[in-house]
Amino acid sequence: MRFASLGSGSKGNATVIDSGKSRVLIDCGFNRKHTRIRLQELSLELSDIDAILVSHEHSDHAKGVTLVCESIDKPFYATYGTARSAGWLDHPLWQCIDSHEKFQINDLSIQTVVVPHDSQEPVQFVVSSERFKVGVLSDLGSLTPYVIDAYQNCHGLLLEANHDLQLLQQGSYPPALKRRVAGDFGHLNNQQAADLLSRLLWPGIQHVLASHISDKNNQLELVQKEFAHVLKCDWKDVDAAIQGESTGWRALK
Ligand SMILES: [Zn+2]
Ligand SMILES: [Zn+2]
Repeated sequence: MRFASLGSGSKGNATVIDSGKSRVLIDCGFNRKHTRIRLQELSLELSDIDAILVSHEHSDHAKGVTLVCESIDKPFYATYGTARSAGWLDHPLWQCIDSHEKFQINDLSIQTVVVPHDSQEPVQFVVSSERFKVGVLSDLGSLTPYVIDAYQNCHGLLLEANHDLQLLQQGSYPPALKRRVAGDFGHLNNQQAADLLSRLLWPGIQHVLASHISDKNNQLELVQKEFAHVLKCDWKDVDAAIQGESTGWRALK
């Protein structure tokens, strides 16, 4: 099993998970052209994707979903709330997710995880093959026991470290937006992410990538230093998904 971020941040997110037999995209916040280009950097074509799993309707996650799926005639999975807000209820390729039930896409088992975020029915995803488990977690404002439980024992983990609280407070966002981002239904700050990471560490974890890093209210180096405390490694060795390019494949063995 292997996975890669096609890019991550407030301007677009997508992660591809490949079991060898099946490939799913989690979110598609890039247009069709850029999704295709970024997949090609990973030696994949759009038609190699079996389905898109959509976490919520915000455009940095949902922008390219229908365009990509229509062009390859493959389904996309989203909760009722997400589909309603995105205007997808009548879309023939939409598959409704029950946010409390696991489901299967070929050999991949998909667990949806309800998260606190300011959208209609947001979820995040844990994707398992026979041997490995990859957790993708962003766009949540606070940690819940349910989230902490759902992301245990992942071999690969993409974890939101959205903002540095001090940079957010000192930054140019209007007060209401600052409250939204930092609130319980906004995004995880670096310390919350590191706290969560410390609870998810286990001997089987092979790859941890910081993700959804704000370009206005954060710096990669701050995230890396925060995660390095937990991972007990040099901060320069902390892996991250960034906005401008794909990460390349991270393989699980
Ligand atoms: Zn987002
Ligand atoms: Zn969001």
